Amino acid sequence: MGGHFPETLSGSVVHDLPDEASTGRLAAAVARLARVGDAILLEGPLGAGKTTFARAFLRAFFGDPLLEVPSPTFTLVQTYGGLGQARVYHFDLWRIEGPTALVELGFEEALGDIVLVEWPDRLGELRPERALTVSLSLAEGDRRRVMLEGWPDRLEELA
Ligand code: ADP
Ligand code: MG
Repeated sequence: MGGHFPETLSGSVVHDLPDEASTGRLAAAVARLARVGDAILLEGPLGAGKTTFARAFLRAFFGDPLLEVPSPTFTLVQTYGGLGQARVYHFDLWRIEGPTALVELGFEEALGDIVLVEWPDRLGELRPERALTVSLSLAEGDRRRVMLEGWPDRLEELA
């Protein structure tokens, strides 16, 4: 996705996302780079596009544009794939009750597969160090801004 050498040098990449389709394209680019053991942390306020990003990631990752991806607001986690495919866990931790609940939900085991996490500030000490952090922020109308941090070996490919 183009070259932003100075930004990747400083360890982050910033993009304007003028519409939902551009958020989808970025999520698909992240999906192409994702591998087992990865954690993708989705930061940003309500309505910023965290679930929209996760949905586009999952559809691209599994090559299924019709894949149903409900928001895990109430279930806290939804699982995709497995049975011969990679497994991807989509967490929404807004309503999580604390670290014990997180462990009971199987968060640590899930780190052996691929995890997408909305509201990752809830992870506390369980926050993985080697994650890609995707920070979405609201701008006018449908516009969003995104800052990507982490994945020093791959960030350049998202610039
Ligand atoms: P969150 O999970 O961060 O609360 P959602 O993804 O559920 O946010 O909601 C984002 C809303 O904003 C959706 O209704 C989506 O259609 C809309 N939207 C508009 N423009 C964009 C954009 N550029 N990127 C992502 N979502 C967008
Ligand atoms: Mg959400």
